[in-house]
Parts: sequence; C-alpha cells; structure tokens
Amino acid sequence: MYQNRRGHSTTDRILDTMTESQSENTKPIEPILYESHMHTPLCRHSVGDPEEYATIAERRGLKGIIVTCHNPLPDGLAQGSRMYLEQMEEYFALVARARKAWEGRVDVRLGLEADYMPGLESFIEKQLQSAPFHHVLGSVHPQLEEYKARFFTGDAVAFQRTYFEHLAQAAETGLYDTLSHPDLVKNFTASQWGLKRMLPDIQRALDRIAATGTAMELNTSGLLKTIPEMNPGPEILREMQQRNIPVVLGADAHKPERVADKFEMALDLLEQAGHNEISFFLNRQRQTVPIALARKSLRNL
Ligand SMILES: [Zn+2]
Ligand SMILES: [Zn+2]
Repeated sequence: MYQNRRGHSTTDRILDTMTESQSENTKPIEPILYESHMHTPLCRHSVGDPEEYATIAERRGLKGIIVTCHNPLPDGLAQGSRMYLEQMEEYFALVARARKAWEGRVDVRLGLEADYMPGLESFIEKQLQSAPFHHVLGSVHPQLEEYKARFFTGDAVAFQRTYFEHLAQAAETGLYDTLSHPDLVKNFTASQWGLKRMLPDIQRALDRIAATGTAMELNTSGLLKTIPEMNPGPEILREMQQRNIPVVLGADAHKPERVADKFEMALDLLEQAGHNEISFFLNRQRQTVPIALARKSLRNL
C-alpha cells in the first residue's frame, strides 16, 4: 500500500481526501507508522516484554513495532550490554509470542540492533542470515569500553573523527538498513564537541553514506542524553536532506512508555530541515510515508 522508494500510491490519495474534508483534519487517521527501534529485557538494561511495548504502540496510533535488541558479538565482546549468543532463540521466541498475541492489532516484527566495529563484518553477515530480520540497525557505540580501548588515543576530537569514519564504513559494508543515533559520540566527548569543527568530516561521511543508499535514524532518546537533542542534531539532519538520505524514526525505547516518544517533535524537526517523508523497513525493504500523513496518524498516550 505504501510507495516503495519512488512513485505514488494510496498515501497520496489519502492526503487528497483529507484536504477535501477540512473538518475531519483533527481526527486521527488509520495507523500507518512503525516504531523501528526498541529493546527487550534480554540485553539486561531494558525492561518490559515486547507485548507491553505493543500496548503503548496501539495507544500511540502505530501500525506496528520492530523489536531491535542488541546483538551478541563474537568472543563475548561488550557482553555487558547485550543478550548472550545462546539466547538468540529465546529472543526470536519472545518476539514471535508478541506477534501472535497482537495479531490484527499491532504488527510486531523481528529486527536487530547490530554493532559495527572494523573486523566484525563476517560475523555480522552470518548472524543476519540466521533469521528473517525485518530491520537491521547498524550502531557504532563509542561508549563501549572495548571500543574506547581500541580507538581512543587521548584526543577527543580525533575520537570524534574516527566515529564518523566508522559510520561511513558501516554503511559501506552493505550489512545494515539504518545507521542508528548517528552523532552519538557528541555525548561522550561533550566538553570538546564542536559541530563546526567536525562538519567537514561529517560531510565526507554523509557523502559516502548517501552513495550506499543506507538510511539514517532520527533517534529521539538523544533528548535524555548529555547534549539534550535528538541524534542527529538539526544541522546534520539538513545535511542528510541535501543528500537525499532517508530517515527512519526511532525512540530507542528501553521501557514500554518510551515507544514513539517525541515522534511529533521529530517530525517537526525533519520538516524544518527540509524533509517531507520518513521511512521504515519491513522485510528489509524501505517503505516511505509523507510526514504530513505520519503526523495525522499519531495519537496521544
Ligand atoms: Zn541499549
Ligand atoms: Zn538501541
């Protein structure tokens, strides 16, 4: 029913109908949006089963949710913040159970938040073949001890450059649908963060990302971090728009009540940066929805 990458579809007709009946404009329309980033208790820093996340999704007017918990890595790498390798089946079962329980009401899908670090490519490639994932987030997590040990040399600005280099590399692996929270490093080097200084590096990274067709996330949980703005911030959103990089919305909920948190504000920020549509992935295929329509479909909790 949605347009896929290009072309027009029923969404245009729904928009036409809506402008015809102005008095209906305040009424929410049928659910159309998916929440594309959320966690489960298996990563041990998140609470609530997928069923509870679906409850909030229904109240917020979402059509579906894609569960994307943190992936296990080889040799117990960064094990503190993710499920164990032998828990993957349990993860699949957890999502399948929620899918069954919510059938016909909220479309619950299986996804994964998969870390990127140079050298992980072949492991991730095999892991992604182990189940039919709908959406795969590619995450560079600069706060991980293992990441800092390899890439922090004592120079915060150099570390920021390395982070954006790794984001571009992650896109170039072709393994990921969407790069998550793509300026996260600013929160862990906040006293030495300067967008102006980093902009040439960011622009080079965005050129490389745009060339791959990989989407980038607008992650609303940034509002809760050291630099309280969404990830990425408004200037990077504008740079993404100039390169036609698709944007996927995610609240990165680690508790049910954060599902679709601040999505309305995120849609405003996207429009201010010149975007007019947002994306989500199903079957790892990108779907798009006009922002105006997305906004009308949301309901208050
Ligand atoms: Zn997490
Ligand atoms: Zn996450």
